[in-house]
Amino acid sequence: MQIDVVTIFPGILEGPFKESMIKRAVDQGFVEINLVDLRDYTHDHHRQVDDYPYGGGYGMVLKPEPLFEAVEDLKTRSGSKDTWVILLTPQGDRFEQRRARELAEKSHLILICGRYEGVDERVRRSLVDVEISIGDFVLTGGELAAAVLVDSVIRLLPGFLAEQALADESFTESLLEYPHYTRPSVYREMEVPSVLLSGNHGEISRWRRKQSLKRTLERRPDLLEKADLAPEDEEYLQELKKQQS
Ligand code: SAM
Repeated sequence: MQIDVVTIFPGILEGPFKESMIKRAVDQGFVEINLVDLRDYTHDHHRQVDDYPYGGGYGMVLKPEPLFEAVEDLKTRSGSKDTWVILLTPQGDRFEQRRARELAEKSHLILICGRYEGVDERVRRSLVDVEISIGDFVLTGGELAAAVLVDSVIRLLPGFLAEQALADESFTESLLEYPHYTRPSVYREMEVPSVLLSGNHGEISRWRRKQSLKRTLERRPDLLEKADLAPEDEEYLQELKKQQS
């Protein structure tokens, strides 16, 4: 996969992409990440990327010309037939694991990071395939949103993480993951549930499934509507609901 991140502040993303899992994915050839300075697509002495909004009002708007030129150039250079151009914007579709999985199957992503009041509307209308928001709040720019998206997509690239690492994870099956414990088995009088020390894998796996159902019911009952539940899961949830009422 190739990911091009178009930004006027490439320095913001240098740190996050040079550490830990993202670095490993790059080093192992799972992904190539390019930080693309939007100012490289300007033609004036001041390398101007923004301008005043028509109609007046507060703030500046990213101009269409450098963004169109950047995206067209990146598409031509990658040669991919499978490019998705993504605009990070608080007005976009809320980012979810389902979308991260979809993006992990693409061969080329171009992420556009807005700044100031955002980008000229013509960019959104005719250059962008999908608009993504990382939540109902407003950041000063799209760079941190792009980092969130890249991080979540990379860990889903086929073959990068062990299947097992992703299998029980929150949202994989529309359920939240069960709780984890590590050594010591007793800490400040708080004990690890005895089933986890039993060595009985069947029991452990049943306990984890129940914990996962319980946690999802308590914290994100909305997810259960989409979850693939076995009859015994349904039974357990009914039991929990009775206890709650
Ligand atoms: N004026 C815009 C509005 O009210 O919708 C907000 C612009 S915001 C200050 C500047 C840039 O930050 C946006 O163009 C976008 O790229 C990025 N941004 C801000 N919040 C975001 C969010 N929740 N998700 C993704 N990107 C966001």
